[in-house]
Amino acid sequence: MSEEKLELGLNLDDYQYDARHWPAQGHGRWIDYNYIQGIDFSWRCPSWQNQGFDAFGIAGKCDIVDHLLRGKLDYASPTLRDVVFRDLLCGSCDVAGKRNLDFEFQMMLESLRVRMVEKGFAPPEHAGVTNCIMDSGNRFGKPQIDRNKWLPKSIKTSASADTIYFAGCRGAFADRAISQSTAKIMAAADAPFRLLENEPCCGHFVFITGQLARAKKIAQENLNLIRKSGAKTVVFSCAECYKTFKVDYPKMLNFPTSELGFDVKHITELADQWLKEGKLKLKNRVDLKITYHDPCNLGRMSEPWLPWAGKRGKWGVYEPPKILRRGVHGIYEPPRNLLRAIKGIELTEMVRHHENAFCCGSDAGVPEAYPDLARWTAAERMREAAHAGVEAVASACPACKSAFSGAGNELKVFDITELMAKAI
Ligand code: SF4
Repeated sequence: MSEEKLELGLNLDDYQYDARHWPAQGHGRWIDYNYIQGIDFSWRCPSWQNQGFDAFGIAGKCDIVDHLLRGKLDYASPTLRDVVFRDLLCGSCDVAGKRNLDFEFQMMLESLRVRMVEKGFAPPEHAGVTNCIMDSGNRFGKPQIDRNKWLPKSIKTSASADTIYFAGCRGAFADRAISQSTAKIMAAADAPFRLLENEPCCGHFVFITGQLARAKKIAQENLNLIRKSGAKTVVFSCAECYKTFKVDYPKMLNFPTSELGFDVKHITELADQWLKEGKLKLKNRVDLKITYHDPCNLGRMSEPWLPWAGKRGKWGVYEPPKILRRGVHGIYEPPRNLLRAIKGIELTEMVRHHENAFCCGSDAGVPEAYPDLARWTAAERMREAAHAGVEAVASACPACKSAFSGAGNELKVFDITELMAKAI
């Protein structure tokens, strides 16, 4: 095996080392030990915790991949399909796998989905959103002509601005309060921006459900669109869109994030910078005891993409050395800085935070194909928030807000942009 040349992109065959050498102990189940405060909220894998069988966690999936690659297991099994897709692809086991062993579990799991789709074994429930995106240009199947109607007349865009705000399907159609609050923040900071005339879907759903050929086409088209626009910066309020542009397009098309040709920023990064520079002032009090939920796509999975090709030598050492995306350099402090800067807000951390945060349950085609898992995961995270003794939860992604809003909990749910807009 050590003589094989690997690319560590989205080809499952390249992850046999990772699948075979995983020690199959408890690493993938627990958050980092120094964060554990007791038995409750000490687990990191929603799919495994919800189902209670190893097959649904990373240890079982490593065994499955190893057996698939050795021809000992057949792809054609409804049970296998459920195991592979009843998975939030939240990146948490990837953090565990890199704590001291340098495995690429998130890439292995994404590649496993790609292989399942190529073999024709995807959940039929993914067709609905996919068809909406391919036919209408957005995940809700709404007329694209209405896409930019969220923008209030009171906020003016600038045709010559070198910054584009990409609202995303959710910001454009489902949760306009977030896009409107983001625009208000940019206007208050006197930061000119424009919108794309026919903003497309970022394609996150298509990619994360394993439909690689389609997702690559969307990636190339969207990159062409932004590059042609001449924009220097694209700003996002949706963590899924942000990570898709920053990480998944380069990953699919095999180039480093640094060669995108434009900067990718989340609004929390810019607002934090504007506050520090004095360009943005927060005047109003917002009295709330609150906790912050790190979106998986803004936190542990948002580190820039770097292609790598080479060999895994003795003890799995990467030759040439590989820079590993361990999840610790995600966007963690800017959202917290913003919350602390709002007068009246008292911020308390949940047990699981930063790269150890528990998922909200809204991603990876799970709400569409396995809604019980999506609901359970959101409710579990809200139970953890309530345990922190707060009255509200803030996140920085419309998908998280939507998941928590439907979790049947007494806590108030906000996107951080909404709180900023109130404070402005
Ligand atoms: S990606 Fe998340 S849900 Fe999937 S196996 Fe890993 S920890 Fe569990």
